[in-house]
Amino acid sequence: MPNIIEQYHITKEPYYRPVADEVELFEAAYSVRMPMMLKGPTGCGKTRFVEYMAWKLGKPLITVACNEDMTASDLVGRFLLDAHGTRWQDGPLAIAARYGAICYLDEVVEARQDTTVVIHPLTDNRRVLPLEKKGELVHAHPDFQIVISYNPGYQSLMKDLKQSTKQRFGGLDFNYPEHAIETEIVAHETGVTKDIAEKLVSIAERARNLKGHGLDEGISTRMLIYAGSLIVKGVNAHAACRVALVRPITDDPDMRDALDAAVATFF
Ligand code: ADP
Repeated sequence: MPNIIEQYHITKEPYYRPVADEVELFEAAYSVRMPMMLKGPTGCGKTRFVEYMAWKLGKPLITVACNEDMTASDLVGRFLLDAHGTRWQDGPLAIAARYGAICYLDEVVEARQDTTVVIHPLTDNRRVLPLEKKGELVHAHPDFQIVISYNPGYQSLMKDLKQSTKQRFGGLDFNYPEHAIETEIVAHETGVTKDIAEKLVSIAERARNLKGHGLDEGISTRMLIYAGSLIVKGVNAHAACRVALVRPITDDPDMRDALDAAVATFF
């Protein structure tokens, strides 16, 4: 295997705690190379899941964090000028298609729509990627699969995937894990006791109930892991929750006080 793809192999098993039958479903989807869409709020385990699946399937993983300034060239590739003239450089999608990686486009809806259409020919039975500027048609390697993530709650009318894009993917729903599983994850990832992990999860559950009532997003599993990591470092639980759970998600003084009060009932 060429060096260029070697670096994308995941050598150590990532910790992933399955929540339902998502591992089996993804394996079945991979076996037919179905493009997959992981749907769910930020920080609930989508990226970790795809890392785990790439490891389990023994395939390299190329992750691209999408943003609104991203152009099709950022995905596909471009000509670069160097001392010897111009030289083509494959973008991450072209590398993944050529060498048979799983390509994970994180928050794909952030990218402009003209960017998302470049993935279309890779998602139907043609499985090709046209490098128009280079005049090359890349036929995807048999191992190649495309995976995108998508946060449905967070889209405005202006920012949604086109139906013609959505319908090219199978979808898996993700959400914050249920109480006992999330407690296990927080304890495992941070080293806090089960008791502290459980309190952190309970605070998050209160905040999640406020989503749509003054909060745009609930406290994510990722944030609980930040809080737990601070506690393990000796930061007092109150301060850790203020820093990692409350301040990042609200600028509103009333909401901040309500969340601080929720913290105070547990710590
Ligand atoms: P997303 O991609 O949905 O924004 P991540 O996959 O980055 O979120 O999840 C944030 C963190 O939460 C991960 O780094 C991991 O520590 C933890 N996490 C969430 N769900 C799980 C899970 N099911 N198993 C293991 N870790 C998890």
